[in-house]
Amino acid sequence: MRSEPAGGDPLLPSGGEPADATDPAFETVRPGQPTPGRIGRVGPGADEGLADPGDLGRRQRHELWMRRALEVAVTGPAGAGVADEAGGTTVDDVPVGAVVYGPDGAELATGRNERELTGDPTAHAEVLALRRAAERLGRWRLDGCTLVVTLEPCTMCAGALALARVSTVVFGAWEPKTGAVGSLWDVLRDRRLNHRPEVYSGVLENESAALLRAFFR
Ligand SMILES: [Zn+2]
Repeated sequence: MRSEPAGGDPLLPSGGEPADATDPAFETVRPGQPTPGRIGRVGPGADEGLADPGDLGRRQRHELWMRRALEVAVTGPAGAGVADEAGGTTVDDVPVGAVVYGPDGAELATGRNERELTGDPTAHAEVLALRRAAERLGRWRLDGCTLVVTLEPCTMCAGALALARVSTVVFGAWEPKTGAVGSLWDVLRDRRLNHRPEVYSGVLENESAALLRAFFR
């Protein structure tokens, strides 16, 4: 696992360059580390209640986290058996990646869509990441946590995110056919629900969409 040519070791977010880090501004940035140099916080509420946002503004932090999710989408989570010896994927699962960050911004868990790999209709990236994060924290309640996913969640995942009491959801590409966070439905901001996470959409949308287009080509 450690010697995978692409993407680095998913176990060690600080150990590898994001595979798709094409933006020169992120050249030296590792997931989980603050951006070097001065980057001011952006917009109102940029600190977002996170304990240690460092010098990262919310937008920069979300983009950094999304790069990590994109990396997970391509390489799969550590130990999941998705990556083969060549560092590629062995099954034809749609590349969707999700990462759960704790209230302090630390990476808690990752998940990649494994529906084909496991034959499990519920093995979406978000559900797997939520399960692993809950397991790691030893509780089902993930308040204060942020889930970052490369594609707009479906109804099942939006439901799971609400049930897990996740505080913030960040997603990349819109999914007009099945999306339940603004496209077809807006489950997470339905006022009839008593828990409504904060939602940020379209983060690195082009990169996320390009990954999916490349898969379906
Ligand atoms: Zn889903």
